[in-house]
Amino acid sequence: MSDIFDGVFKFKNEDYEKHKNLFAKLEVGQNPHTLFIGCSDSRVVPSLITQTLPGELFMVRNIANMVPPYRETQEYVSTTSAIEFAIEVLDVKNVVVCGHSNCGGCAALYKSEEELKNVPHVRKWLELAKSVKEYVLNNIDNNAEKHIKREMMTEQFNIVHQMKNLLTYPLIKEKYLNKEINIYGWYYMIGTGEVYNYDKANDSFNLITKQK
Ligand SMILES: [Zn+2]
Repeated sequence: MSDIFDGVFKFKNEDYEKHKNLFAKLEVGQNPHTLFIGCSDSRVVPSLITQTLPGELFMVRNIANMVPPYRETQEYVSTTSAIEFAIEVLDVKNVVVCGHSNCGGCAALYKSEEELKNVPHVRKWLELAKSVKEYVLNNIDNNAEKHIKREMMTEQFNIVHQMKNLLTYPLIKEKYLNKEINIYGWYYMIGTGEVYNYDKANDSFNLITKQK
């Protein structure tokens, strides 16, 4: 635990000092260009994989980078309210739904009720990807590497599914149709450091390389 206290001290004395002017500017407000919806997984570090600084990414993180379909409700909806704020108030220009390899949330879709009995809220949350699991089970080929293939297929199809859920938000749909907002789906490979971008036209994920 003392490590994270040491980290706080080091941040103030080194990184903060290095970006002092930026922090002075950020003290009075934020103007992030991107809403980043990622998994809560400790191995996914959005600012690191995008090489962005404080003030650039407005982040929503939850188990398996889910986007609950839009609905009006009196419940406490964390993800929905963060998305609403990013689009309506911060007026972000990009939304990234970022999934990743070896996602425990996606793997848990295949666990039994008994295995999830001590995490009832997680079990409920995973219902948001029920149709992802159904799609994968209906479309997977039967081959020797079925398990690995199922894992990646679930993680990637989940990204596409959550991108579609974004369009159930009236304001996102309007801005997307008016080309005022970009929606991206990314797949981050933890073991290689590679990030793949979803190409809607070809229904495939392509490795992100140097931008021209
Ligand atoms: Zn995950």
